[in-house]
Amino acid sequence: MIRSTLFLGLLAGTAAMWPTTWSGGVAAAISPSLDLAQRCAALVGQNGIDEATARGASSMPPAPPGAPPVAAGAMLPAHCEVFGTLDRHDGADGQQYAIRYHLRLPAVWNGRFFFQGGAGTNGVVGDALGFVGGGQAPALTLGYAVVSQDSGHDNRRNTDPERGGDIVFGSDPVARANYGGSSLKRVTDVAKAVIARLYGRAPERSYFVGCSKGGQEGMALAQRFPDEFDGIIAAAPGFSLPRAALAQVWDVQTFGTLAAQPGRSGFDFRRLPATFSEAQFGLVRAAVLAACDANDGLADGIVGRFERCTARRVLPQLRRRSCTAGAAGALCLSTAQIDALQRSLNGPRDAAGRSLYASFPWDGGIGTPGWRLWKTGSATLPALHILTGGPALAMIFIVPPSPLRADPQSYVDWETAFDMNRDAGRIYATDTTFPRSAWTDIAARSPDLSAFRTHGGKLIVPHGASDPVFSIADTLAWYREVQAREHGRADSFVRVFPVPGMNHCSGGPATDGFDAFAALVAWVEQGRAPERIVASAGPASPWPGRTRPLCPFPRIAIYRGRGSIEDAASFTCKGTGK
Ligand code: CA
Repeated sequence: MIRSTLFLGLLAGTAAMWPTTWSGGVAAAISPSLDLAQRCAALVGQNGIDEATARGASSMPPAPPGAPPVAAGAMLPAHCEVFGTLDRHDGADGQQYAIRYHLRLPAVWNGRFFFQGGAGTNGVVGDALGFVGGGQAPALTLGYAVVSQDSGHDNRRNTDPERGGDIVFGSDPVARANYGGSSLKRVTDVAKAVIARLYGRAPERSYFVGCSKGGQEGMALAQRFPDEFDGIIAAAPGFSLPRAALAQVWDVQTFGTLAAQPGRSGFDFRRLPATFSEAQFGLVRAAVLAACDANDGLADGIVGRFERCTARRVLPQLRRRSCTAGAAGALCLSTAQIDALQRSLNGPRDAAGRSLYASFPWDGGIGTPGWRLWKTGSATLPALHILTGGPALAMIFIVPPSPLRADPQSYVDWETAFDMNRDAGRIYATDTTFPRSAWTDIAARSPDLSAFRTHGGKLIVPHGASDPVFSIADTLAWYREVQAREHGRADSFVRVFPVPGMNHCSGGPATDGFDAFAALVAWVEQGRAPERIVASAGPASPWPGRTRPLCPFPRIAIYRGRGSIEDAASFTCKGTGK
């Protein structure tokens, strides 16, 4: 394994340096003659630190709900655990805000700093274990000093049921800017200062890893604070968050037409999960595979050329499965269902048909549980598009914010009344309270990465082709813009790795287990650019244990023509996905 070799080397090297690195440390460093518990306790009172506790080695806590399991048998090392509070302020909305961070400093440090990205609307301080995704061991267990943060609001303290619940922070411009990315620089600076104080030297390398909102944060760092990090993973980046929220509302409106009742405007949110049965989504997936699976040279349930899998190719297959094509009485799709799917994947549009965000490819993960979770929901959990997209758009992504009562039906009523033609421009609007637009504060979609390149930074962007909330088409369009600016040489420092079939950050009929972080470290520290990242399919996939290379866009995995189709060794990265 690349990583185990690499990190054993790092740890051995660090241990050898340990006694000598204290001399010549920064002036504020804590005396190295103290033991870890004493040095840890001495941190309190500076850098906003409220609490610092020495922890012994222990077994890993279980992975958070919904997250893939971390590597089996991983142990937490002895470390100093720190909680700090920065920049308390009274918000324009009467709430009291602060940036809270959580830092873990291992007794045996590998000399490196790791910033763990957030998720959703943040507001929780995070576990600071250094979650890297893909079932891999967290960074703390590898010797990294790890920080996580709440991005400037606290879901327990800052909540108001009449103003979106814990997204009330969208009504304060400072809290909004901190959520959008300002807190990243503040916490980075403070974490590096605490590291220098405890260990007597600055980190040699700094890494950031995040997915979704965390991916947006990685992009914000690469674009706005390009000198802070040497390596960044910005997976499934929400770097167009306000526009993606328009797509979420567009979907609620689109699938809502299937849940409409005569004489009622909008729809009852509880009716959305029944708009498609699981078996009907199985028909959709069968149509996609019939139209597009073999176009990459192998009918294996994976749509390698997902960019070519357009409505023009798939619609004939869907129509063969429609209830008007003689399939009546059997399992079939209604014309309204087919139209709704097509409208959803076409993405939000204004009245002139201009795209307000991006389209979504037809891919093999459409209609699978991780996709339905967002689009149509279930009897036990309303669609995340209802619960997240609408309220976030109302409270965080437009100016002025539009306060909503925190309940699903209020969200649906607001979402169905939202007029794309009239209201979408509010994501770019300003006023006296909000002199910066939500797009300015929260988007991180600039293709100008020149400062990050000059710094020597490396950026890896994994993204699922069946991501139902942040479209891979937006990420690939951005990468083409970066390539144009970089005269076709962007892959010297930034590479996108599409994962066919994968939903948001993980899941779906996909090889979603992979170690992008090891690939990033090898690129940063050894100059080995990732030509492929081997990924494996988990037990919930149709092919447990299958491996595939993930390929840097625009190359795709092509079968060599011999060898097991379950084995990545039988595939090569070549050609173009387009
Ligand atoms: Ca295929």
